[in-house]
Amino acid sequence: MSQYILQAKKLTKVYGLHTENEFEALHQIDFAVETGEFICIMGPSGSGKSTFINNISTIDMPTSGSVRIHDIDIRTMSSHEIGKFRYQNLGFVFQEFNLLDTHTLYENIIMPLSLAKVNQKEIQIRVDEMADHLGIKALLHKYPYECSGGQRQRAAICRALIAKPQIIIADEPTGNLDSENSHELLSLLKDLNETNKVTIIMVSHDPLIASYSSRLVYIKDGKIAETLCREELSQDDYFQKIVDINSAESRRLMSK
Ligand code: ADP
Repeated sequence: MSQYILQAKKLTKVYGLHTENEFEALHQIDFAVETGEFICIMGPSGSGKSTFINNISTIDMPTSGSVRIHDIDIRTMSSHEIGKFRYQNLGFVFQEFNLLDTHTLYENIIMPLSLAKVNQKEIQIRVDEMADHLGIKALLHKYPYECSGGQRQRAAICRALIAKPQIIIADEPTGNLDSENSHELLSLLKDLNETNKVTIIMVSHDPLIASYSSRLVYIKDGKIAETLCREELSQDDYFQKIVDINSAESRRLMSK
């Protein structure tokens, strides 16, 4: 049994394979995550962050290399098995919230449980508990377009957490939120991470958001260029180091 909850080896992604537009977006990345880590992926625009997060979370399949989640090689699963595996083990939070506008918040939130064929009584108990925790219980009958950005993101988080996944994948989760809602969302993720040992892998371009993580992985040109662990650093000192890594890259780009 591996000590890692998620492990990628020589992960490579080529878009447009064998076409004139062939482009290698990820090059032989080795990456391993222990249970309870809170990882932030950063890097310049176009460096491969979304491709990376999609390929380690079953959203997309690598061109070569392996990805193991809970010691299972995701390429050995059928698409039906992957669908089931995804809603049982992974919770997704996206910048765009990805809520269906034709469904109420309640209907959006219960989707992973409906897919998992959880019974109605259990669904009701879980939604009540989670919506209460996230402060959106009074909004469950509303449609996403009737809610504010912060409320929609809470509903999206509620849907991501409702099946109690052990891993949360978040791609720029605060991208559409103001600073107060961003801070609240990060406090919530941090609490889940510390209290429930939920493993979090998040993409962000914002050093302040990144400073909530326990490890920073900086991607450049489809490779991991740098890794920084918070360890004993205060959040302020960790933040400063993250700013330094990002500004070194900005200076390099400006001097080109
Ligand atoms: P980031 O998230 O760091 O901005 P992406 O992972 O979105 O970067 O993209 C990495 C590179 O791969 C970019 O050059 C982008 O243009 C390219 N790319 C992303 N998605 C596709 C796709 N579906 N087809 C072809 N190229 C793509």
